[in-house]
Amino acid sequence: MANAKELILPLRGALVPVPAQPQDGVCSTCHSSAKPGYARCLPCAGAAADPPEILPITLSVHGELVHSHLRNYKDSPATGVRSRMSLRLAALLATFMANHAGCVGDWDYATCIPSATRVALQPVVSRIALFAGRCRQVLDATPDAEERVIDPDRFAVPVDVRGHRILLLDDTFVSGASMFSAAAALRGHGATIVGPVVIGRHIQPGWPPSAELLSWIAKRPWDAARCARCAGERLRASLF
Ligand SMILES: [Zn+2]
Ligand SMILES: [Zn+2]
Repeated sequence: MANAKELILPLRGALVPVPAQPQDGVCSTCHSSAKPGYARCLPCAGAAADPPEILPITLSVHGELVHSHLRNYKDSPATGVRSRMSLRLAALLATFMANHAGCVGDWDYATCIPSATRVALQPVVSRIALFAGRCRQVLDATPDAEERVIDPDRFAVPVDVRGHRILLLDDTFVSGASMFSAAAALRGHGATIVGPVVIGRHIQPGWPPSAELLSWIAKRPWDAARCARCAGERLRASLF
């Protein structure tokens, strides 16, 4: 994707850097807002013991441009809109993977988290050269699973994944239920979870701790060379 930089341009101004952790007001698992004094946000605090640390590419502010891309790349009735938005998201994911391979860690193959009806991110991932021949669908969503409940049985693992390092990919992280369920299912079958990389960590600007976080971080430019693991934003410069 030679022109990834240009493809991302329409999204550039809407990308919000992801805060580093640990710092007060930031969830140690998903890097979104947490109540002051709490290590994790409510969805992550409800996860099973030892949830994987999520690596979001950007915060996705509810109702804004990134959020609308993360919905409409899969749900817009217009083919042209879906295709344009998918291309931009693919460029963003490809750029992120190229810049942060070391932050993501070593993996054998990538897998996208499916919903009961589809693997929405697959058409995005399949545009990216890095994933050519390195993407396997190893999760099947159980059709009658509760969407917002963390339950490893939400996903069947129909292939042998024991000892495999699997890069988990998803478009957006809202309640974390599907991400944490998928991670638990794969770990239960002996796989090691890498990443997990999500394009957008959804954030509701009306919730006071989120408003507080956005009040300083949304003013800072998103930088392709920095991520939450290698150089996430901090409210205050470190004293050390
Ligand atoms: Zn969290
Ligand atoms: Zn990084």
